[in-house]
Amino acid sequence: MNTPNHITLIGAGLAGALLATLLARQGWQVDVYEKRGDPRLKGYAGGRSINLALAERGRHALRLAGADEAVMAQAVMMRGRMVHFLDGRTDLQRYGRDDSEVIWSVHRGELNVILLQIAEDAGAKLHFHRGLSAVDFDARIARFNDDRDDSTHEIVFDSLVGADGAGSALRAAMNQATDLGERTEFLGHSYKELEIPPAPDGGFSIEANALHIWPRGRYMCIALPNDERTFTVTLFLPNEGEPSFDSIRTGAQARTLFERDFADALPLIPQLERDFEHNPTGLLATLYLDRWHLDDRAVLLGDAAHAMVPFHGQGMNCAFEDCVALAERLLAGNDRAQAFADFQQQRLRSARAIQAMALENYLEMRDRVDNDDYLLQRALERELAERHPDRFMPRYAMVTFHRMPYEVAFERGQRQRELLVELTRGHDSLDSLDWSAVDAAVRERLTPLPADA
Ligand SMILES: Cc1cc2nc3c(=O)[nH]c(=O)nc-3n(C[C@H](O)[C@H](O)[C@H](O)COP(=O)(O)OP(=O)(O)OC[C@H]3O[C@@H](n4cnc5c(N)ncnc54)[C@H](O)[C@@H]3O)c2cc1C
Repeated sequence: MNTPNHITLIGAGLAGALLATLLARQGWQVDVYEKRGDPRLKGYAGGRSINLALAERGRHALRLAGADEAVMAQAVMMRGRMVHFLDGRTDLQRYGRDDSEVIWSVHRGELNVILLQIAEDAGAKLHFHRGLSAVDFDARIARFNDDRDDSTHEIVFDSLVGADGAGSALRAAMNQATDLGERTEFLGHSYKELEIPPAPDGGFSIEANALHIWPRGRYMCIALPNDERTFTVTLFLPNEGEPSFDSIRTGAQARTLFERDFADALPLIPQLERDFEHNPTGLLATLYLDRWHLDDRAVLLGDAAHAMVPFHGQGMNCAFEDCVALAERLLAGNDRAQAFADFQQQRLRSARAIQAMALENYLEMRDRVDNDDYLLQRALERELAERHPDRFMPRYAMVTFHRMPYEVAFERGQRQRELLVELTRGHDSLDSLDWSAVDAAVRERLTPLPADA
């Protein structure tokens, strides 16, 4: 029997803090245990990417938690991709139809601080310096380590929710009690963060309202704006080959790569050598589990359940959607094991779909955004979205500006892509298309969009 309306969360990162708020605002007693210190006291300790793209799914969850206004006050709008070609030309490819369809760059540390404050204000109890180290599921005892003095602390729990990220300690403990069917697929590419400081006049040194991309085939750089007028640049490279993190190990080698492949970015990154040598290289992987819960005793969400590669900018957005879905199940007052099972049933297939789309997007970002076939397909995509707004919506829009289940966006996106490839085959401009045949194909092959769109 679970104590009604009490729950123990592991991890006070993005998902943990948001879920705590959603439940505490409805009168639940929520205890949250976090490995690190309180970032509101000592500043955010970093570790993962510095800034993140926030989209409609995430904003919807923030609105439900009463956090959207505070978060948006420090967010920077990104209207589209600013593609930087090798010859120095640039091209802004809008994400949506207008400024109602944009994404937002938010600072991970500031976001976490806002969410923690809102969670605490809502009544959640936050326990810092409590890293989960072991769980006795039979006795329902969780053991934590305090990194300041290496002391051990135990608590008795009803149910644990694992919001402790990709390296989840709760997941490891659950795996000892039952086989979760875990597998991790490494991408074979990693990333390194670099910084573009403000311009000498204190403003942004390149277009502020865009996500900048330098696509170079097997690798790329991106840059997202921060509200303090800097940009965080992320260099994605294969782990092996030429160039790769294996062949480029020193700051001087990084400079040579930038001189050749990212020449317009180089003068913007004065500390290139230092950043390259000093900042860690982050691994990229997709985590698949067949099961996310252990009866009524534990459930996983966010990166702990389904870490993904970052190329659709949806990991946090998806984690926030998980929080809303789990809170709904718990607040409905269902039997807890059933609530966890229903949550898994609903969200596992959604997570698989966005994981697949995130992997596909890497190829699109690094290799296709500057290619002629792709640009023609995108032009047709925009035209079809205008002509058939009830049936055709670019996949990026379905994922980013709407909240239809990811698996619906994935499946419709596949059918749309097939259409775009077929309809543009043998053409190098839209002028030569037979529009009555095009319209007939759309009506025949695509059902009307679901209501949420
Ligand atoms: C390079 C990069 C770029 C990204 N860009 C985007 C983007 O643009 N948009 C987007 O939506 N997503 C993006 N993501 C994904 C996003 O960062 C994650 O999906 C998101 O952080 C998941 O939130 P979470 O709360 O599940 O995990 P986390 O944010 O990782 O939080 C986990 C928390 O648990 C704590 N913890 C860990 N172990 C323990 C323990 N043993 N005991 C107690 N606490 C513990 C950690 O300290 C942390 O506070 C990106 C990821 C990367 C790597």
